[in-house]
Amino acid sequence: MEHKQPDVIVVGAGGSGLAAAVSCAEHHLTTVVLEACEQTGGTTGIAVGSFTAAGTTFQRKQGIVDTAEQHQIDLTEFAPADIEARNNPTHRAFFVRHAADTIDWLQSHGIQFVGPAAEPPNTQPRMHNVVPGAKAYIARLQLAARKHGVEILPRATVEHLKTDGKRVTGVQYCNAAGDQHTLYAKHAVILAAGDYANNPALIKRFKGPGYENIDGINPNATGLGHLLAESVNAKLVNMDITYGPELRFIATARRPFQQWLPVTGPLAKLQNWIASLLPQWVFRKIIKRLLVTWQHPEDALFDHGAILINKHGERFCVETDVEERNRAVSRQPDKQAYILLGPEQIARFSHWPHFVSTAPDIAYAYVDDYLRLRADITTRTDTLEELARTTGVPGECLIETARQSFGSRVGPWVLLGPVKSYFTTTEGSPAVNQQLQVLDTDQKVIPGLYAVGQCGLNGMILWSHGCHIAWAMTSGRLVGASIARNL
Ligand SMILES: Cc1cc2nc3c(=O)[nH]c(=O)nc-3n(C[C@H](O)[C@H](O)[C@H](O)COP(=O)(O)OP(=O)(O)OC[C@H]3O[C@@H](n4cnc5c(N)ncnc54)[C@H](O)[C@@H]3O)c2cc1C
Repeated sequence: MEHKQPDVIVVGAGGSGLAAAVSCAEHHLTTVVLEACEQTGGTTGIAVGSFTAAGTTFQRKQGIVDTAEQHQIDLTEFAPADIEARNNPTHRAFFVRHAADTIDWLQSHGIQFVGPAAEPPNTQPRMHNVVPGAKAYIARLQLAARKHGVEILPRATVEHLKTDGKRVTGVQYCNAAGDQHTLYAKHAVILAAGDYANNPALIKRFKGPGYENIDGINPNATGLGHLLAESVNAKLVNMDITYGPELRFIATARRPFQQWLPVTGPLAKLQNWIASLLPQWVFRKIIKRLLVTWQHPEDALFDHGAILINKHGERFCVETDVEERNRAVSRQPDKQAYILLGPEQIARFSHWPHFVSTAPDIAYAYVDDYLRLRADITTRTDTLEELARTTGVPGECLIETARQSFGSRVGPWVLLGPVKSYFTTTEGSPAVNQQLQVLDTDQKVIPGLYAVGQCGLNGMILWSHGCHIAWAMTSGRLVGASIARNL
């Protein structure tokens, strides 16, 4: 099918791409979005959905006095000092200044939030959570884009950028049938292609060897946007910095409950109204379910004697060496491992202050929560023989491993897993200026090329819950105005 030349082409229909498409359309720019996958959403669509911002309408309504300047100061406390030293404070200040307005803008498109919740070391409650879940960003923004006449093409993978020698003029993409097409844009191409958590070659190139077997949580996070930018001489920054690897429980085969909840229509309106009235304890119960969906087991489990075994029942690493442990898990059969808890660990991790996983200050999940909410990855038995029978781990080896690690064979026992070692996301990206224009290796603007979301982080390392989505949405919201200004 032939497409009329649009003003703007957006590469990727995740959170930042759809926000960019809506903002371009709001600035009267005709827009086509090309999405590699069958479904829109990207990593945004599988996220929890928290959005951290300061000085928001929600905060004001609750009498919370907060500023972007204070948020900027608090953000320096999240990453370890050596990582924080490599952050881009100027760009981060630019981001936090605009994040609160983005929440209002998203609300104007029917996206609802609850909160804000506290997340230390933030000095004020700033974490706004989208209801019913991150899919709401995608459904609502897609609806808004379509209303504005934006065309979204699924299964269209952009493989090359087109240039006329001076500026980026369009893209070459491959459609579902494997045919190559060229599409030119009158004014801009926006890279909104997400991160490279699932591109081992790119991670090896910048981070070094040892991570080849580690998957990204989103298998489609392949870093094509970064490679496209590099193909036109974009400067890439902080490409060795990754969020993870870290251990995470594998996702439930069932769709998490919040994915069943409506995101558009009258039922969604009713549900959003009810959510706004929810007391904090109900909200905590909901968050607890999310905690056991994707959260990673606390390191404290291993500090207090829990061990990792593979599916043969063998112990294979020193669990307290975090760096080595995460890589060792990825070298086990099926890249998977299990956490074995003896009676002492079960007792300890059944109540405060020892939890299996958490979102600090919001909710804490204990052994019982896992037994109840993630029965698919939690087995509790009185004997090791029974544990071996129930889980299929070879009994002889399991018993010997437990004897060596725990000394006695007295139960009860809990086996949690599989866990895998995952990259959650990556923090490297092409350099951009505050207009979201991509910069080359001489720091000069590459005319016609913009980048947003994880593809346009510009050296920001956003290791606080809710900042990645806040940036994806904020950069997407701002890019339409930038392009319109630069015409
Ligand atoms: C389990 C999990 C939970 C998370 N929870 C939170 C949270 O609660 N709060 C928070 O702030 N952050 C969270 N994050 C991180 C956050 O979700 C992401 O960093 C953010 O949503 C990325 O948005 P994006 O638009 O940059 O990329 P994406 O949403 O990944 O969108 C990129 C899109 O581009 C498409 N694409 C890629 N290459 C091409 C190509 N060549 N041609 C066409 N299309 C292409 C992809 O298929 C994808 O649809 C979470 C991450 C994970 C993995």
